[in-house]
Amino acid sequence: MNNYDLIVVGAGIFGLTIAERAAAMLNKRVLLIDKRNHIGGNSYSEIDKVTGIECHKYGAHIFHTSNDEVWKYVNMFSEFTNYQHRVFTTHNNEVFPLPINLGTINQFFRACYSPSEARRLIKSQSSIIDKKPQNLKEQGINLIGKPLFEAFIMNYTAKQWQTPAEQLDASIITRLPVRYNYDNRYFSNKYEGLPKDGYFNLFDNMLKNTKSNITVMLQTDYFQSPHIKNATNSGTLTVFTGPIDQFFDYQFGSLNWRSVRFEKEIINTSDYQGCPVMNYADLEQPYTRIIEFKHFHPERTSSCYSPSKHKTIIYKEYSQAWQHGDEPYYPVNTTEDKNTYQKYLQLAKQHKNIIFGGRLGEYAYYDMDTTFASALKTFDDKIVPYFKI
Ligand code: FAD
Ligand code: UDP
Repeated sequence: MNNYDLIVVGAGIFGLTIAERAAAMLNKRVLLIDKRNHIGGNSYSEIDKVTGIECHKYGAHIFHTSNDEVWKYVNMFSEFTNYQHRVFTTHNNEVFPLPINLGTINQFFRACYSPSEARRLIKSQSSIIDKKPQNLKEQGINLIGKPLFEAFIMNYTAKQWQTPAEQLDASIITRLPVRYNYDNRYFSNKYEGLPKDGYFNLFDNMLKNTKSNITVMLQTDYFQSPHIKNATNSGTLTVFTGPIDQFFDYQFGSLNWRSVRFEKEIINTSDYQGCPVMNYADLEQPYTRIIEFKHFHPERTSSCYSPSKHKTIIYKEYSQAWQHGDEPYYPVNTTEDKNTYQKYLQLAKQHKNIIFGGRLGEYAYYDMDTTFASALKTFDDKIVPYFKI
């Protein structure tokens, strides 16, 4: 272990970015470990052997960012397609476009409102318009009024979080825009697309950029690896991207996470649902959404990837409560969680040679681009100065 200048725990986007930068820019010898059998963390994808379709193993991942630095960085490792994400939702046996836009509003109210008429209507249906929304429920009603909130948000959110909407952070819902025109692009960022040759290639290319300075050890759990833990305890700089509460042996209690379960089906049809993601807004369907992966790469008909014309793959996505041993996915972030996290943060500050980062290490709802951005900033602000001293 003495051969390494830096240990990185977790080969997701945060860990990979730190490892790549330290190896490529500072010529440091990096040990990168992950308890899974692949790199890329939750953003990993693989080609299904039966159908040739690329599947995002941990749920649909669409790259979108308005951050020029991040866009430039990811483009060093992959070209991106011009994919634009569009999502639909099923409510009361009817399909509506998302995010909520003038098309959704007019279809829902069986009307043909103009943008200003629709604004007036939603304003009259928002009971909380004069104070800053304090939680997801207030934020939701404030944004789209009670009828639309109850149709498209309330039950989906109940399935997704199984936590009363009054206890959830308002920011969760602010991610979804509301538009008073017919634009139904899910994201409104400057850049959007998917890695042309797959996420797995993007991540492999990050490692190739590093002059063999990175040693990767897969199926290696930090907590089961005394020699690696000893290296941290002896002062080797360590970037930890696993759950911060686990690192400190849950001494202030567990943070609340949501986990996700996917049911994969290969279906003998060329097109199952006509779009990549169909949300299910009602409680009748126990899953939150169905992903059909072949729609992410319509350009792949004649490329080196030849996805089956006669088969398709769907994932039904079920949100579930997290228990010890499950994969943590989403931080629930109730007020109590925020207080607990602050205690872990204070403890973390006492460990000068350990940096906590990423979705799990910072207990944050990061998208891929914010994870890249946070890792690049951590590299500049903490890793570079550490090695300069
Ligand atoms: P992770 O990807 O979780 O990586 C952490 C790694 O640490 C994992 O590989 C884990 O195995 C490893 N690890 C943990 N503990 C240990 C240990 N003890 N020892 C060794 N290794 C360990 N973002 C978008 O931009 N667009 C999307 O469309 C999108 N969709 C999403 C859909 C879902 C269902 C989810 C859950 C997230 C989505 N995201 C999306 C967010 C994206 O997944 C994250 O931003 C990104 O994965 C965060 O990277 P990370 O490195 O912080 O964490
Ligand atoms: N949401 C909802 N209905 C939908 C889609 C989203 O109520 O059809 C809410 C839900 O609370 C969800 C949040 O908006 O957790 C963010 O949705 P997004 O699709 O951005 O989340 P992610 O892809 O990260 O699961």
